[in-house]
Amino acid sequence: MFAERTDWPPRPDRAPPMDTAGLLDLDLRHVWHPFTQADEWATEPKLCIASAEGVELIDTDGKRYLDAVSSLWCNVHGHRNPRIDAAIRRQLDTVAHTTMLGLTHAPAIELAARLCALTGLDRVFYSDSGSSAVEVALKMAFQAQQQRPGGSARTRFAALAEAYHGDTLGSVSVGGIDLFHGVYRPLLFDCVRIPCPDRPDPEAETRCLAQARTLFAEHGPTLAGFVFEPLVQGAAGMRMHSASFLAGLCAMAREAGALLIADEVATGFGRTGTMFALEQAGVTVDLLCVAKGITGGYLPLAATLATEAVYDCFRGPYTAWKTLFHGHTYTGNPLACAAALASLDIFRDDDVIAGLRPKIEALRNGILLIDHRTVIERRQRGLMAAVRIGPFATDARVPHRVALACREDGVIVRCLGDAIVMMPPLSMTPEQIRRCTGAINAALSRVVG
Ligand SMILES: *Cc1c(COP(=O)(O)O)cnc(C)c1O
Repeated sequence: MFAERTDWPPRPDRAPPMDTAGLLDLDLRHVWHPFTQADEWATEPKLCIASAEGVELIDTDGKRYLDAVSSLWCNVHGHRNPRIDAAIRRQLDTVAHTTMLGLTHAPAIELAARLCALTGLDRVFYSDSGSSAVEVALKMAFQAQQQRPGGSARTRFAALAEAYHGDTLGSVSVGGIDLFHGVYRPLLFDCVRIPCPDRPDPEAETRCLAQARTLFAEHGPTLAGFVFEPLVQGAAGMRMHSASFLAGLCAMAREAGALLIADEVATGFGRTGTMFALEQAGVTVDLLCVAKGITGGYLPLAATLATEAVYDCFRGPYTAWKTLFHGHTYTGNPLACAAALASLDIFRDDDVIAGLRPKIEALRNGILLIDHRTVIERRQRGLMAAVRIGPFATDARVPHRVALACREDGVIVRCLGDAIVMMPPLSMTPEQIRRCTGAINAALSRVVG
């Protein structure tokens, strides 16, 4: 089945054709798309994006689409934002990349200081994806416990049911979505799974808190950390819980001696209506993971933030062997840091968070107007929203087809399970948000009837 190939070197390297059909043909032959069933990709209509402007993506035929999922939850201030573009160009005139292993540079230093000021944490460790940021946090929590007096029995993690923390194996181990993670179980470490409701329902939350209390009592002394997505479990289909539920869980974990690890990869940088979701829960953490929106959605950059107390667990003479032996080649890339600094400037100078209210309101009203008879539930926190539809046979792929049908009206959305997900850039106008929700409603009628 995996036989050695005999046709090497097989083909001359030619310039690819630049027309849409030629590009898509090459894509079909050579590209492996993430989270995508190849057989579906081969047969369904494909979009090839050529450029973008503000919150619109423009395909190779010139058609425009509202980017209602922020290019997978990362775009913040729109595409080709003049200030971020200029910051990257300025940085390009000094240096594109230099390492953080044994050297340092101004953009990474300034960004670290500003992230600490925004979050109340003390130390910033850079990486390049949300998965890595979580992976690093897990290793930091584990090693910090091992290297502090009395912590050596703390070798496990607690995580929420239906959690998503990324796709590398440590992050998958604390993840709890069977569809994504099930096949890898033999490779993963086990963790204590804390039940979590899918919506802020007081009765369900009380029940989950009671079960959590038992679990923390039983496993507390073995826990290195407790990792969670605050307020919104995005990839699980925008499952949501209340701020008081989260505060309750965090108090239990803290009491049990576990380090608190917040994964704000999706919720960070304004998505829930505040700069970070933790602000709404009134919870302080030991480790914080950020990624997606950090550069305004421009370049791959992530950060794991830590308290000074965690950092202190790693100090000592070299031969005490307390160093965190972890680091990626593109850690703290200067171009990405420059983009992140420009994005933070925009947040500050334009008072972006204060301006979110009418957009959040438009999203609330918009999803209420999605009133097709198959709508089961609507969920929203800030600018993160989902409309669940059903029941449909899984192989009918109705939510997926509805998402594809939205493109006919010039709107890009995606589904997660039975949920059609919307997560517009913070710069999308209320009017554009209404166009997106209107397109979903119209697509539902066309696809389902
Ligand atoms: C997307 C996401 C990740 C993974 O980030 P990548 O940059 O895709 O590796 C981790 N945690 C949460 C909550 C996410 O939404």
